[in-house]
Amino acid sequence: MDKQQIVEQAKAIQPWIVGLRRQLHQHPELMYEEFETSKLVQSTLDELGIEYQKDIAVTGVLGTVGNGNGPCVALRADMDALPIHEQADVEFRSQVDGKMHACGHDCHTAMLLGAARLLKENEDLIQGTVKLIFQPAEEGGAGGEKMSNEGVLENPAVQRIFGLHVSAELPTGMLAARAGTLLAAAGSLRIVVHGKGGHAAMPHLAIDPVTTAAKIVVELQTIISRELDPLESGVISVTMMHGGEAYNVIPPSMEVQGTVRSLTMDGLKHLQSRVQEIATAIASANGCQAEVSFPGNDYPPTLNDEVCWEAGKTAGEEVLGEGKVLEMSPVMGGEDFAFYTQRVPGCFAFLGIGNPDIDATYSVHHPMFKVDEDALPFGSAIHVNCALNSLDDLS
Ligand SMILES: [Zn+2]
Ligand SMILES: [Zn+2]
Repeated sequence: MDKQQIVEQAKAIQPWIVGLRRQLHQHPELMYEEFETSKLVQSTLDELGIEYQKDIAVTGVLGTVGNGNGPCVALRADMDALPIHEQADVEFRSQVDGKMHACGHDCHTAMLLGAARLLKENEDLIQGTVKLIFQPAEEGGAGGEKMSNEGVLENPAVQRIFGLHVSAELPTGMLAARAGTLLAAAGSLRIVVHGKGGHAAMPHLAIDPVTTAAKIVVELQTIISRELDPLESGVISVTMMHGGEAYNVIPPSMEVQGTVRSLTMDGLKHLQSRVQEIATAIASANGCQAEVSFPGNDYPPTLNDEVCWEAGKTAGEEVLGEGKVLEMSPVMGGEDFAFYTQRVPGCFAFLGIGNPDIDATYSVHHPMFKVDEDALPFGSAIHVNCALNSLDDLS
């Protein structure tokens, strides 16, 4: 089949894809609350005549195109937004104060719906099954793990899985990824330092958790700079410190939060154990107590299968042209796509949506984050070609 045809078909439905994206963008929903988003996905699949299962992992949807048997390839999009107040001046701004599709998951969902429409229109070409996974809660809720646990990779068994993430660091018309480790193992960190509150003028009668917390924050940085092999990758970022309510009162406790990351799960566990040891020891040396925890879900590293990345590169070049697909270095971001690639071979790649002419230069999670929507049909076409090429390889 002529792959160029898919690109033309994708470009022809760009207004439809963009319309869906803008609708999603105006109505962002946080993790495990993607009820309206899920309904929009379902009604769109209904319109397209695509069968699906709903209410998987709360709001997840699994569409199926093809003959229902193997070989089977899955395409995945995430649907959740972030608790960020949008500051971008677009006419389809978020209508919900304090919530925004600042990670582009609205684009991911719309691009996968675009792929669904193209696959349905070309269903006679599908020798096997393509599963369309619309998942909740990528932003810390491990929705991908829940979806896998609820069986979306089975019956028929998924043999390859592909996912895309928009990136403003790449210009529109580019795709980037690599074989092997692409993204980090990542988790969160919380330390509560308990001291003894008192009058700020009489520190000798109190046990100050503020100075102790400050020492812990500084000392944690030496785990990375002094203990880790300089050729290995690790991150400990403290991003929040809360405590105290008055300038002249020593508070009874301080709370410190942040993130710990490594390129391996073992590396992550090691960093966590050192955080635990150092925080506890510094607290006790200063007469305080530290309560250390790593709440939420530790995301495994995202590992791209070599054969799947080759398939992704081919699809990328078919859609974007020669020289438009880049090999990149790993980055320390985390992704719950990793939960799928723990079980089946897959590939996660970054799709360029950057365009300085329209101010699409802010990175994801920024309140000014903007997208060059001309990239969206490319994403849909890359999804389709990844699926069709892989089914050819597998049959
Ligand atoms: Zn994100
Ligand atoms: Zn994201």
